[in-house]
Amino acid sequence: MDLLPLILPWTIHLWTRFHVTDAPVSQLFYWDINMRTPVIGGNWKMHKDHAGTTSFFESFRPLVECSRHREIVICPSFLDLDRAVTATRGTRIQVGAQNLFWEKEGAFTGEVSGPMIKAAGCSHVIVGHSERRRYFGETNESVLKKTVAALGAGLIPIVCVGEHKKGNAEAVLMEQFRDGIRPLANGQFARIVIAYEPVWAIGAGETAAPETAADAHRFIRAQARDSFGTEAANSVRILYGGSVKPGNAKSLMAQPEIDGFLVGEASLDPISFASIVNL
Ligand code: PEP
Repeated sequence: MDLLPLILPWTIHLWTRFHVTDAPVSQLFYWDINMRTPVIGGNWKMHKDHAGTTSFFESFRPLVECSRHREIVICPSFLDLDRAVTATRGTRIQVGAQNLFWEKEGAFTGEVSGPMIKAAGCSHVIVGHSERRRYFGETNESVLKKTVAALGAGLIPIVCVGEHKKGNAEAVLMEQFRDGIRPLANGQFARIVIAYEPVWAIGAGETAAPETAADAHRFIRAQARDSFGTEAANSVRILYGGSVKPGNAKSLMAQPEIDGFLVGEASLDPISFASIVNL
């Protein structure tokens, strides 16, 4: 049996704990008990055409060939899902959409359903990104419907939450969790990924301090524990998003609570995104 995929993440984790942080010995065994494989997601938003997508993957593929300690998910525009799926076939890179509609099919001009995204070869879909909440009127209720639809189609929803203004994270997260996530059944919750993205840090060049982000992640995990139990809470991956760059990713990732990233701008460049993946 090939033990490398099991041993490598733990070795990296221990090395990180010893060399990058002053984590107490008690924390050394925290992550390997829970074994949350980090997810590094790239949200391309409304960037890149066919040519840009093709050239990104030509450069990116060889840069992450040896990366086995992360799940990598890239979310291009709907127009390039097919191209991205073809470009990543036979690699460990997965492809996700940036949005979906909750109905399976019908007279919903301009919308794309979960089964369509699944049939295109995607594994993930971003749900409730703050830009969708802000510009397209998405609410916790629509986020819940989309999450359920994504799960029903066999996709992994990356459910985004986060406060607009610094300082009121807990109140906002509590409400978003209560209305957008808590109504899920246990089996549904077990299949989602959560992305904590403080809106004030998205595209702003200013990231949350690692300890601040970790506090928010702990708060979300506590909500998950209250609603779905300890095991489910310990297993759910909570990603951080908001101006993650190669220069700040290492200190964020050193927080045991941070299980990966949702990256916007820095995911557009194959070299910077690969350097975040390969941390
Ligand atoms: C995002 O769009 O989810 C995001 C975090 O963007 P950026 O990394 O550019 O802040």
